[in-house]
Amino acid sequence: LRMVSAAPVGNEPVSDEELRPHILEGFIGQPRLKAQLQLFLDAARKRDVPPDHILLAGPPGLGKTTLAMIVANELEVPIRVTSGPAIQHAGDLASILSSLDAGEVLFIDEIHRLPRAAEELLYIAMEDFRVDVMVGKGPGASSIPLTLPRFTVIGATTREGMLPSPLRARFGFTAHLDFYPHEELEKLIERSSAVLGIQLEDGAARQLAMRSRGTPRIANRLLRRVRDWAIVHDLESVRPDDVKEALALYQIDTEGLDRLDIAVLKAIVTNFNGGPVGLNNLAAMVGEESETVETVCEPYLVREGFLIRTPKGRVATRKAWEHLGITPDESAYD
Ligand code: ADP
Repeated sequence: LRMVSAAPVGNEPVSDEELRPHILEGFIGQPRLKAQLQLFLDAARKRDVPPDHILLAGPPGLGKTTLAMIVANELEVPIRVTSGPAIQHAGDLASILSSLDAGEVLFIDEIHRLPRAAEELLYIAMEDFRVDVMVGKGPGASSIPLTLPRFTVIGATTREGMLPSPLRARFGFTAHLDFYPHEELEKLIERSSAVLGIQLEDGAARQLAMRSRGTPRIANRLLRRVRDWAIVHDLESVRPDDVKEALALYQIDTEGLDRLDIAVLKAIVTNFNGGPVGLNNLAAMVGEESETVETVCEPYLVREGFLIRTPKGRVATRKAWEHLGITPDESAYD
């Protein structure tokens, strides 16, 4: 039986835990999603059956793992955590499935990375609550169908499009998480600062929110850096200027862009004169996987108006040039 610990993504997996809300009410923002999920859970409780399988899609750090844990907690059932890459063979998944208790939640992070054979096993298990267990080896081997108790799969993915449609169709509820607006991140930062015992003055949370790339995990990380600063400088409370100074020291971009975002914009602007440039070329130029550029980096750049996708490729906007401090080559915009 293979199990991995929660929060496999991000820089500070252990400290992710202390700031995780445990009930839906404590989950900041995403009001529509929360209302949908609440209804979904209430209905399951009233019917007294485990809820349908849930798919959570969206970029890293937006709360997929947190939501999965909240669902299990609200249903008062245990949660088993694994991930696509941790399951190397269909047999790994079969043994997890056959050991699940009735009603248990099975959280599969990066579900789009499951090996093909495991995927097939999974969607049969999700649909029919059955797994075929191979017994014996060679010509004498046979498969015995094993009936499973009802359980709930919660899948998380940064790439919904990579899930084969039979698997996607097994989820009764799909939630798309999007980047958080500044106001929501401010609330999140205020909540986290209370948990961490940091006193923020008016406007300090705003300064943090602006630099957090729409992402709760990053907001919490920056808050910890600001806490370090406050401790070292013996500050009783943190003013907006302290945030600016502290984060300038860590070279945090004022628009929240990270190293990869900046590398991508620089490549488009300096190597391709603003674009258009195809995804694969761009990824090669910055030394990253196309998948990472497309799913982690681009959605935020597009949303914030630094980049547009055209049929011919990616194009940097004037805002991108300005942010990099480079004068736009106007011929690129004819
Ligand atoms: P994902 O699984 O999507 O990569 P996580 O669920 O691990 O993201 O969230 C990363 C961190 O951000 C965790 O510490 C979590 O508590 C916090 N977080 C994410 N979304 C929210 C939210 N809506 N409200 C409060 N905290 C959140």
